Amino acid sequence: MVKVVSTYGPMLEQKGLLESVCTESDVLRINISHTTIEQGIHQYNLLRKFGKPIMIDTCGPEVRIRTKEKFLLKKGQHIKIGRPNSSAKICLDQDIYPHMKAGEMIYFDDGMVAVSLVSKSKGLMEFRTHEDVEIRDHMGVNMKGRSFNFPALRKFDISVLRSTAPTFVALSFTRTAADIKEARRHTDAKIIAKIENWDGVKNIGSIMDEADGVMIARGDLGVEVPAEEVPIIQKEIIELANNHAKPSIVATQVLYSMVEHPVPTRAEVSDIANAVLDGTDAILLSNETAVGKYPLQAVREVKKVGKRIASHVCTKIQGNLHIKSLDTASEILSNTIYSIASKREIDKIVVITRSGYNAHMLSRFKLPKPLLAITTEEKVALELNLLYNVTPVKWEALPKKNVVPRAALFCLEHGLIDETDTVVFTAAVRTQKKDIMNLIEVHDMKDMLQYLEF
Ligand code: PEP
Repeated sequence: MVKVVSTYGPMLEQKGLLESVCTESDVLRINISHTTIEQGIHQYNLLRKFGKPIMIDTCGPEVRIRTKEKFLLKKGQHIKIGRPNSSAKICLDQDIYPHMKAGEMIYFDDGMVAVSLVSKSKGLMEFRTHEDVEIRDHMGVNMKGRSFNFPALRKFDISVLRSTAPTFVALSFTRTAADIKEARRHTDAKIIAKIENWDGVKNIGSIMDEADGVMIARGDLGVEVPAEEVPIIQKEIIELANNHAKPSIVATQVLYSMVEHPVPTRAEVSDIANAVLDGTDAILLSNETAVGKYPLQAVREVKKVGKRIASHVCTKIQGNLHIKSLDTASEILSNTIYSIASKREIDKIVVITRSGYNAHMLSRFKLPKPLLAITTEEKVALELNLLYNVTPVKWEALPKKNVVPRAALFCLEHGLIDETDTVVFTAAVRTQKKDIMNLIEVHDMKDMLQYLEF
């Protein structure tokens, strides 16, 4: 089933919903664009107790408003905005001043509000508003199609990353593979490239080769590129991610109306279903859980739609995968497992995996059958939570001999498989090599039980 990444917000605690939302979500996201260093670290420590993978979403090169007050402006009014750390009441936190020309537009609040530059002098830019607007601290600022060479990570991001150990880092505004390499210097986490401008879209091939996963960050993306391009970009990126056996996440405005209302719109339900049909691994909830009135209902809604649509997904994406990925023995084996596991008599797939590679190779098919990924590595078990349909299970130690029978016994003893199940097992055996799949066994468990003696 599709996975849910939920964003933390302090309201969750105030409402007494932190535990239930965290328990029912698969990955917990902290967006440090909205925190200080101390708050980011505090939120990380707070969420650790839930035993779920934590994703830290960086501030990165995005430009944001900095102000101590709120300003309500009517359409047509003028505002003055200063350079970073200036004495102006409203500043930007990245220095775009030298690059801006009179007449140019910038956008606030994921493109909801436009303002145009009237003039600039002595470090102040004077803008005219095109709509009524509330200027608040931390508001994101977009400039369509413009890119500035700001560093992939801020000092602030690096301080948070070096004081925490998240499972994933969502790298905001990833523009090139070099951005990801830079992030790897500061964290051991898996890097999820957030694609949210033209540079990211243009360089998606090399970014996908380098990243551990990808997020289609539709909030900023829909401002930086024409919004009508986003559905096509979404489909293409998800297909590419599945061909690379890397997870993808669809983000933003998924259940936007549920920030205020307990039920979603029909269009939102369709949006989730279509993202799942495209073959995404996960859906990200932002405002819905961070500041919304119905965070738990929102998480449950994604799961409900994901469950309903699950049996329709695999056949939709299958053709693309078969054609492009039969270069190695492992790819042929994973395709074969897909073919076997598609048969009605197969109930479950058990993957014994050290690095998580084999679970990635199988999850990409989006089969509607449970995929149990047994691993001895705590870190890998956490990482696998993001993968479609994968249930990671921690195993004490990997046996040297009889790996499949011992895994079968372990699963039976822990109620993960039934005596009545027919199960496909896969693993990499008698090898130290990484990223290898070299075993397939198919067993009727009742039959196999006669042989489970050591
Ligand atoms: C987005 O822009 O869609 C997104 C997920 O990024 P952020 O929430 O950091 O703006």
